[in-house]
Amino acid sequence: MQLFENQNLKAYNTFGMEVFARQFIQMENADEIPTIINDYLKREPYYILGGGSNTLFTKDFDGIVAHPAFGGIEVKERTYDNVLLRVAAGEPWDNLIQYCIRHEYFGIENLTAIPGLVGSAPVQNIGAYGVEVKDTLYKVEGFRISTGEPFELMNADCQFSYRNSIFKQALKNDCIITYVWFQLSIKEHFTLSYQGLANAMAERELPMKLRYVSECVRKIRDAKLPDPKIVGNGGSFFKNPVISSEEYEDLKSQYPDLIAYDAPDGQKKLSAGQLIEKAGWKGKRMGNAGTWKNQALVLVNYGNATPKEVLDTAETIVKDVNSLFNITLEMEINRI
Ligand SMILES: Cc1cc2nc3c(=O)[nH]c(=O)nc-3n(C[C@H](O)[C@H](O)[C@H](O)COP(=O)(O)OP(=O)(O)OC[C@H]3O[C@@H](n4cnc5c(N)ncnc54)[C@H](O)[C@@H]3O)c2cc1C
Repeated sequence: MQLFENQNLKAYNTFGMEVFARQFIQMENADEIPTIINDYLKREPYYILGGGSNTLFTKDFDGIVAHPAFGGIEVKERTYDNVLLRVAAGEPWDNLIQYCIRHEYFGIENLTAIPGLVGSAPVQNIGAYGVEVKDTLYKVEGFRISTGEPFELMNADCQFSYRNSIFKQALKNDCIITYVWFQLSIKEHFTLSYQGLANAMAERELPMKLRYVSECVRKIRDAKLPDPKIVGNGGSFFKNPVISSEEYEDLKSQYPDLIAYDAPDGQKKLSAGQLIEKAGWKGKRMGNAGTWKNQALVLVNYGNATPKEVLDTAETIVKDVNSLFNITLEMEINRI
């Protein structure tokens, strides 16, 4: 491990917030984690930070930020149909995508170009274009912080749902994920249930190959989302709200073009981006913060925005959406 004092976190969060952590521990392998827990994390406030692409630091962190910096992808088993991969928490997610494309492993190509590290992927059950990480995740290994003991959770025990898991609930702030296992198909298999992706593949007349599906996803995302290296942002700032079918019918009579997807138990999932856009917020700025011109769901740092500016903008959006639709948007991003 390496320990740094008064670490500037600007390069460790995609929103580009200039905040400082009193101490910063770079965890260089999983074996040292029990010692790190015992000697440091049990004594101080702490935060486990991956790539910082789903984290909004709202002020300096008066404690320890612990960052998994160990990567690696290992094939554990290969059968006629599937391959089982064990991937270290510090591996960048998109490296795993590239690896799977090179080796022709099917299942996570729709999740191309999601920023962040593999260890964070199960936390909010990352998802895009009709696929979620839960669809191919086999199990998760880690350590409990309260006890220092190792744990293993099989997929069914991770309590995955939309942008949610046990790691955001019972194990919130009480675990360090060290390895994530994936079961991927070695037989050709695509998920094109998301119409936007199917249409984009057809329009571009691309052959149905793993590499092209991944490239197509990357192109759609590039056109819609700002590159955090250029414009600071944390991806979708709010969750898509889920409402009852009665509430949906009521809103639909007022807004006939309202987008909705089927959600569990007969409910409807609305597009938070569309609600924000209808509230007049697409591409709008409030000081140095605002929403992205091509996707209102993404709040951006237009340059030197303070955490307060971002939060004030978010609060104003929540208020404006609420007064129009009577729906309270919930933040997807972790506020620290
Ligand atoms: C431009 C952009 C586009 C995005 N698109 C999508 C998208 O399409 N779909 C989607 O689902 N998300 C998307 N996101 C959100 C984000 O990329 C994902 O949530 C990603 O998994 C976060 O990874 P991270 O390593 O950056 O997490 P961080 O922000 O570092 O951490 C996120 C959470 O995980 C916890 N955590 C991190 N590592 C560990 C660990 N090893 N053990 C235990 N807990 C840990 C943290 O404490 C925190 O609670 C996007 C973000 C951006 C900036």
